Amino acid sequence: MRCIVLESFSPTERTHVVREPQRGNYDRETVYKILDEAFVCHVGFSVDGQPYVIPTLFARVGDAVYFHGSAASRMLRNLSEGIPVCVTVTLTDGFVLARSVFNHSMNYRSVVALGKAAVVDAPNEKLEALHAFTEKILPARWNDARQPNEKELKATSILRLPLTEVSAKIRTGPPEDDAPDYALPIWAGVIPLQLVPGAPIRDERCDSSIPTPAYAANYRR
Ligand SMILES: Cc1cc2nc3c(=O)[nH]c(=O)nc-3n(C[C@H](O)[C@H](O)[C@H](O)COP(=O)(O)OP(=O)(O)OC[C@H]3O[C@@H](n4cnc5c(N)ncnc54)[C@H](O)[C@@H]3O)c2cc1C
Repeated sequence: MRCIVLESFSPTERTHVVREPQRGNYDRETVYKILDEAFVCHVGFSVDGQPYVIPTLFARVGDAVYFHGSAASRMLRNLSEGIPVCVTVTLTDGFVLARSVFNHSMNYRSVVALGKAAVVDAPNEKLEALHAFTEKILPARWNDARQPNEKELKATSILRLPLTEVSAKIRTGPPEDDAPDYALPIWAGVIPLQLVPGAPIRDERCDSSIPTPAYAANYRR
């Protein structure tokens, strides 16, 4: 049976962007581009009424995101139907300096995904998720590094969240000041932000005869 994936997520009552709704975006390709550019997500979940929001690595594979289980996986052990989570991803693109303090802002691209995350038990799917984490950050590293052994795989809990109820929000462009403020003699504009990799630093215990691989020496984003 062929599964039809819609080009856009349908906004639900929960994913309807309320403030500045023109910045809301439900286009699947736009959402996936944001997810694929980010390394870190924040996973929100509640245990006994206490909310936790945990930063962790993640990767998108098809129409799902995978992330390390840690605390959430503890309570998931006996919950085959999954745990309600909110996964948030944020890319910060610039500081927006308006003439008034009130109108200062940020340029950003962010995604909020709601749903039930389930523990990945199948070793193959676990491996696929770990492969996706590694390759997403450093393409070609997976084959260079030692592969996870059975014990390491068992010790790693991975959660899968199908991407069904999802929103993106995007701010771009210059500051938006109140009309009278444009006449003020105050500098206004955008300071762009980028995540820039530095030169690789060799581990002290790494044999100096081992050449720095090209993917590390020439790492670009
Ligand atoms: C880096 C950064 C800085 C921000 N700074 C501020 C700030 O200082 N003040 C401020 O009011 N807002 C800020 N925002 C926007 C903030 O994330 C919310 O969008 C905002 O608080 C209003 O949300 P709401 O009332 O529309 O939605 P809520 O009622 O909070 O949320 C409703 C639904 O809208 C969707 N949604 C809301 N926000 C986002 C988002 N950012 N990305 C994807 N989906 C979203 C979600 O599906 C959510 O379930 C910032 C966002 C980013 C990424």
